[in-house]
Amino acid sequence: MVSGFREGVVCPQGLIAHGRGEAFDYLLGERTNPFAVKAIEASACALLTAERPVISVNGNVAALCAASVVQLSSLCGARLEANLFYRTQERMKAVKKALFAAGASEVLGGEEDEAIIPELFSERRRVSREGIYSADVVLVPLEDGDRTTALKRMGKKVIAIDLNPLSVTARAADITIVDNVVRAVPALCAAVKRLRLKERQALERILAEYDNERVLGEALEAISSRLNRLARGELHG
Ligand code: ATP
Repeated sequence: MVSGFREGVVCPQGLIAHGRGEAFDYLLGERTNPFAVKAIEASACALLTAERPVISVNGNVAALCAASVVQLSSLCGARLEANLFYRTQERMKAVKKALFAAGASEVLGGEEDEAIIPELFSERRRVSREGIYSADVVLVPLEDGDRTTALKRMGKKVIAIDLNPLSVTARAADITIVDNVVRAVPALCAAVKRLRLKERQALERILAEYDNERVLGEALEAISSRLNRLARGELHG
């Protein structure tokens, strides 16, 4: 993250958001928990059954897991879009450069074809017309709550990766993977590889059975029971 910051990929606010994420990761035991595995499986199904899937990439994602988002995009046919909350032309260029260096053949965002997300203000409302604006399924690994809510109002199916099960994004998304992006994106690649061999109907069944509220509840239960066990001396941090 620090070298991403020095290279102009990560912004100062991104460093603070990363710290927030690390605190939750610690509470969750720094591993991919069973509730995250369920969400990863449902996300793979949503991406594989989508007509126009898009993966939104911000500075933190480009710094932490550029190679795995590029791999995921080619595995499930999703387009990559550089989409920054704190947007400057230099940072857009730096994020795109990181994705191309990781093997991307195309990265949308910051071009002439921009559209506006309704109800949002400032630079953060700009998206690619061909990308997020016309997508049916959008994967937002790390996203701000207002933007996630606006994407939902536009009728998109939103998949979020967010270590904080209480964030607005985690609550507003259709599928929330409560896990660190560095573990979740490679796990999503593996799930896509496995599930793409299945019939569409089977994927739709997994999606229909998925319950995001329950998964978020399980994440909170996991934090609470881990803290209780740590307090009783049954676990070591
Ligand atoms: P919201 O607006 O959704 O209520 P927020 O104000 O915390 O949440 P942001 O700072 O835009 O929103 O989002 C960053 C989110 O990403 C935080 O919830 C943080 O816990 C989470 N996060 C940070 N680093 C990681 C990471 N490496 N993997 C997964 N989640 C992360």
